[in-house]
Amino acid sequence: MTKSYTSLGEIKSEIAIGKITVEKLVQGYIANITANSHLNAFNEVFENEALTRAIEIDARIGQGTAGKLAGMVIAIKDNICYKGHKVTASSKILKDFTSVYSSTIVERLLAEDAVIIGRCNCDEFGMGAANENSYFGPVKNHADETRVSGGSSGGSAVAVQANMCHAAIGTDTGGSVRQPAAFCGLVGLKPTYGRISRHGIIAYASSFDQVGPITRSVEDAALLLEVMAGNDEYDGTLSSTAVPSFSKEIKAPGVKKIAYLQEALSSPGVDAEIKNTLVNYIDKLRAEGHTVKPIAFDYLDYMVPAYYILAMAEASSNLSRYDGVHYGYRSPAATDLASTYKRSRSEGFGKEVKRRIMLGTFVLSAGYYDAYFSKAQKVRRLIREKTDAILQEYDFILIPTAPEPAFAIGKLEKDPVVTYLSDIFTVQASLTGAPAISLPAGNNSKGLPLGLQLITKHFDEQELLNFSKYFLEL
Ligand code: GLN
Repeated sequence: MTKSYTSLGEIKSEIAIGKITVEKLVQGYIANITANSHLNAFNEVFENEALTRAIEIDARIGQGTAGKLAGMVIAIKDNICYKGHKVTASSKILKDFTSVYSSTIVERLLAEDAVIIGRCNCDEFGMGAANENSYFGPVKNHADETRVSGGSSGGSAVAVQANMCHAAIGTDTGGSVRQPAAFCGLVGLKPTYGRISRHGIIAYASSFDQVGPITRSVEDAALLLEVMAGNDEYDGTLSSTAVPSFSKEIKAPGVKKIAYLQEALSSPGVDAEIKNTLVNYIDKLRAEGHTVKPIAFDYLDYMVPAYYILAMAEASSNLSRYDGVHYGYRSPAATDLASTYKRSRSEGFGKEVKRRIMLGTFVLSAGYYDAYFSKAQKVRRLIREKTDAILQEYDFILIPTAPEPAFAIGKLEKDPVVTYLSDIFTVQASLTGAPAISLPAGNNSKGLPLGLQLITKHFDEQELLNFSKYFLEL
């Protein structure tokens, strides 16, 4: 069994003294994947390919020509295209689909000598917060196998948690990197919208979707961010803002002003131990000389509705491409064009995906567009303005990542709206496009990991990473 390393730096120093090789690391991770296959974290393991690449990378390390991710063995969420490999978005509709090109991020990770060990289970098309909406079944939390991994990048988080790889790449539309990272005791970073190319990422809601790393350390998150970020002619939403060498520039943050959401402590919907953890950190930060103040956020109750109206509208449009004609699943019972569409989509999509396509179509329909879609866009603007105003006054907003720790598999509320409400703390950064990070903040009395989240100004990931490293050492 490979031991678990906190950062790539540790792996590199062991490689340098000949204690470990990339090949041995991959062998160790594969042994862990086999031993933990019941957790259901992987949809596919690229065993032979990963071993072959590891041997090549070991040779490059010997020659001194290896890239900066040499020694980093990663897994990717199964909605990230990797040429010649299957990509399913954990949906029946894509279960036999093979990528015809690689996403920009996969190309960049490979160019720096990362090894991709497999593709990870997730909620179907990223729609969910427990990984229970996967065609391939739920992912179990390694801290307590009766509980969920979180979602939608649940497989990616558990793959790192159970040491089946060193780090993983997920996507975050409304919390899908941060929340499973919190449920699994890991660091989960959602960069600023426009920071990382979405070319070759299966779209869920395009004005929200972002790629993000799930790691054990802030240093690794910084390193993966700097490798993946930056201009790409294939994604028109990308910013031309310069990409710093985040990992090299991590430094002590200095004295900061931090706002925390009053409701996080007063709301009966937030778990008591999470409240205590937040209070402890507030006390520690104050003791260290930082200014930490409560704020009220007037639009709190509108965040989840605005997010879901817009995300579902965008999803209904993005998922119209799965029609049984162009690619993906085609119903064997189809007899003509209309039945090809209807049957392929009815049989190919899962229940939650269909619910969202229908609701999304409804909010975009001629009679309801103004009442729902257009109004939600206006609310999004207000939330953005209010959040920006807070971040003019404060350096960070500190809130829990999720209102409760990992819950029991199968417990999920039958009422989907109750489930959607559990995204209350993650959608603010998604609606505003701001960067946010979930940081491990210890375990509760049952041994379940808890996460706290920091949000900061657009494109200020360096400050976020600086403070995060410091925060983890508090
Ligand atoms: N839970 C949210 C949703 O279902 C977020 C998912 C995500 O970020 N992909 O939309």
